[in-house]
Amino acid sequence: MVAFDGLPPLRQVLEAHGLDPRRALGQNFLLDLNLTGRIARQALPLEGQTVIEVGPGPGGLTRALLAHGAARVVAIEKDARCLPALAEIAKHYPGRLQVIEGDALRIDPSSLCDGPFKIVANLPYNVGTQLLLNWITVPEWPPRWTDLTLMFQKEVAERIVAGADDDHYGRLGVLCGWRTEAEILFDVSREAFTPPPKVTSAIVQLRPREDPLPVDLAKLEAVTAAAFGQRRKMLRQSLKPLGGEALLERVGIDARRRAETLDVAEFVALANALA
Ligand code: SAM
Repeated sequence: MVAFDGLPPLRQVLEAHGLDPRRALGQNFLLDLNLTGRIARQALPLEGQTVIEVGPGPGGLTRALLAHGAARVVAIEKDARCLPALAEIAKHYPGRLQVIEGDALRIDPSSLCDGPFKIVANLPYNVGTQLLLNWITVPEWPPRWTDLTLMFQKEVAERIVAGADDDHYGRLGVLCGWRTEAEILFDVSREAFTPPPKVTSAIVQLRPREDPLPVDLAKLEAVTAAAFGQRRKMLRQSLKPLGGEALLERVGIDARRRAETLDVAEFVALANALA
């Protein structure tokens, strides 16, 4: 039996290459090519585009990206056991798939290609947030990536898109809101994965803001870390180590407010007022 792209079904690929999923590598595979196709379509247009994929595994999403016209996919995979399966895909799409064996946490995606690129990935849940932070805190802005289409645990997805007064709002929401426009596109149920993870997942898409408010990233991180480190406390208490009431007064923010009520612009104002 073959799939729509003439390659074997993914369950057969797992068996043929002995790819029993490993929890330590966050391996929850998507074996339904209809679903990987739906994810790939969120990143359209793909024609003529370079896509960086993190964690291709047996290649379900990789195949969908190539079938939907990506000119070039550069896939970073930590698990060497996946390489033979990925080599079969590369052979099927000559010159369009490059697989790099390595740890995506240590690789700057912009070093892998010239020009603009997209990142599309079903991220390993244990390093997903750190990878996103790496990509949205690059010094060069706007970044070379044009959009990120990423699978996260739903709870993380909600933190990424959260704004002020939202229960999920925190440091991640401030950083993502500062530099990007982020939205949850759809949920993906546990049963869609092999093996099923403990919780529901969601696809998030982020696009860079052209003109994020100017601020020193280290200062923005210092303010959000202090404020959300004690999120139930009033800001005059949580921001005490950074100047407390005097700092808040300088930017005209009521010292009795709590971190979760401040929008991104207010966090930026506080960061810019830091000594
Ligand atoms: N894309 C495949 C799919 O959708 O079925 C696999 C997704 S699975 C959630 C995550 C993949 O990331 C696994 O193949 C795993 O080996 C790989 N991985 C885990 N940590 C990684 C890292 N630090 N760098 C690159 N790949 C990693």
